Amino acid sequence: MKRSTQTHDKPLMVKKSTKMSNSWTNCLFHAIKDPNLIVLKDQLITIIKDKYPKSRHHFMVIPNEDIGINSIEDLSKCHVQLIDYMTDKGNQLSHKLNTNIAFRFGFHRIPSLKPLHLHVISQDFDSKYLKTKKHYNSFTTNFFIDSKTVIDNLNQFDKVEALTDEECNHLLKQEIVCHFCRLKIANIPQLKTHLVKHFLKS
Ligand code: AMP
Ligand code: ZN
Repeated sequence: MKRSTQTHDKPLMVKKSTKMSNSWTNCLFHAIKDPNLIVLKDQLITIIKDKYPKSRHHFMVIPNEDIGINSIEDLSKCHVQLIDYMTDKGNQLSHKLNTNIAFRFGFHRIPSLKPLHLHVISQDFDSKYLKTKKHYNSFTTNFFIDSKTVIDNLNQFDKVEALTDEECNHLLKQEIVCHFCRLKIANIPQLKTHLVKHFLKS
């Protein structure tokens, strides 16, 4: 019997038309109230641990108030201050962790869950929850957009330059390329072996 590789979190949704229609897409609304997941809360945002981290350090910054925005496609210039604030808070957290691993701060082009959430993720991808090519590609291709680019787009165009569903699908399905040295890699087990060379445990 073929065993599913995605037992812990839902597969990435890649169709804008059908996205976020199930009840599990609301789970982050509950997660931001879960003391076991909260790492920081202030007047505007809550930072939680990602329940299925794809790296050694993986958090999400989520606005406390439901502003009715689930995806970067719904953002406009008026949200620049909020995105900037979310990024700052994520950045501060990454510094507190005192690790020499680089972090990225950004969004999935097509998120699986609502509401809007900024990923704060260390770049080792050393995690048992990183199981599929889609997981890896969702954080290492243009499917992942840095919050700085989001802010630049909003300031310049009053929206984030969108990719089509087809482009997003293509990015998730593309061959594995090491984000660190650009080597092509055949599969996830080989990727894991390869990444150890770049990110030795300290
Ligand atoms: P996205 O694809 O940007 O919507 O990412 C959603 C993230 O939420 C993934 O990284 C999941 O690992 C994470 N996740 C899924 N369910 C939960 C949960 N109940 N609590 C916290 N994080 C979750
Ligand atoms: Zn490499």
